[in-house]
Amino acid sequence: MKYYSTNKQAPLADLEEVVIKSLAGDKGLYMPERIPVIDKNVIASMKDKSFREIADIVAQAFFGEDMDPQALSEIVYDTLSFDTPVVHVNDNIYTLELFDGPTLAFKDVGARFMARLSGYFILRRGLRRNVNVLVATSGDTGGAVANGFLGVPGINVFVLYPKGKVSPIQECQFTTLGKNITALEIEGTFDDCQALVKTAFTDHELNNHMPLTSANSINVARFLPQSFYYFNAYAQLDRAGKAGELIVCVPSGNFGNITAGLFAYRMGLPVKHFIAANNRNDVFYDYLQTGRYTPRPSVETYANAMDVGNPSNFARILDLFGDSHTQIASLISGYRYTNEQIADTVSNVYTTHRYLLDPHGACGYRALADYRLKPEETGLFLETAHPAKFKETVDTILNTDIEIPDKLRAFMKSEKKSIPLGKEFAGFKDFLMSRPL
Ligand SMILES: *Cc1c(COP(=O)(O)O)cnc(C)c1O
Repeated sequence: MKYYSTNKQAPLADLEEVVIKSLAGDKGLYMPERIPVIDKNVIASMKDKSFREIADIVAQAFFGEDMDPQALSEIVYDTLSFDTPVVHVNDNIYTLELFDGPTLAFKDVGARFMARLSGYFILRRGLRRNVNVLVATSGDTGGAVANGFLGVPGINVFVLYPKGKVSPIQECQFTTLGKNITALEIEGTFDDCQALVKTAFTDHELNNHMPLTSANSINVARFLPQSFYYFNAYAQLDRAGKAGELIVCVPSGNFGNITAGLFAYRMGLPVKHFIAANNRNDVFYDYLQTGRYTPRPSVETYANAMDVGNPSNFARILDLFGDSHTQIASLISGYRYTNEQIADTVSNVYTTHRYLLDPHGACGYRALADYRLKPEETGLFLETAHPAKFKETVDTILNTDIEIPDKLRAFMKSEKKSIPLGKEFAGFKDFLMSRPL
């Protein structure tokens, strides 16, 4: 399989290059030349399969021809050592709980998969210099990527995060690990962090000095494996006889997760309609209404992993639908919520249905409720993180003291280490150039 750039000004690349380099030379995002379609009967048979078996079918269809299929299966089995259960919330609303991984959020899936796939290709290529992963985080990505890559030989990770804008629990998941993980505390917003990373990839001097790559959802190996759990969710609903008319709702920030869902749809997954749920960072919502895309600086909300003013995967969504606003708007609906609405939803769903939402999942639940499902439809929203990752917010809303799972508590015991930097590129570059290779 070859991959092209969404900007169409860079040469075609193979999977190895796409995974190791992340971004195309023309700053575009890589897209597979074709999207393999999975046979209807195979999809129907998934209801009798485990998450790992389902993921292996999807992974082989995409990546199988570009690497040793046996090695690929091993990576799938190794990274997906947890399940993604579908849980009933109320009426015909279900949630896909994506928080059983090491950092209790969906990004664990893509991060672990990408770490292993990069490791495989770096070894195969016999690179002598370390590859340096630069990752900008608004909260959750940093922890997932840092834990996914921790101890992987040949790779250094630099996590850039906005000072004071991630929760203390999130922060300790990437500032306490040591080894090949370095945390950089940036005086600025998430968009500033993302801009630093993007500029670094286009700086010739820096790239000649050290091989750089990204682990944000711009990397194919990060976002595409997320399509695995859409199939797994379908299989579970199918088993329960509830998959006939499926409406899938995705709390969205950089739009990597929903893009993976759209890929699953193109691979043949029977989904009737998608919903992108946003907080007050609503550029995609506006695009759906007006056909115009106007990036804006992000604003802070309770659902901080969705505080994104210029979603990087928008380019992929446009490309998937040949830039047709009509097609995009007929398959995807948008909803957006204020902090007050998020708080109301967390509180109502907890009181009425005894389900504890996190602030991101709350946007997803609310959008499905506002969409007004028909009786024959099933609504599925993605619960993207465990509520305890946003303990301060959830406790304030519900006046509770929710328990922190042991997995999270373990991070909080170690000492936090990070390096403070400004948001100007020159300082960031100097820092990287001065690192031992
Ligand atoms: C990253 C994240 C999102 C947004 O996902 P995108 O792929 O960036 O759209 C939503 N919720 C949580 C908890 C996240 O960590």
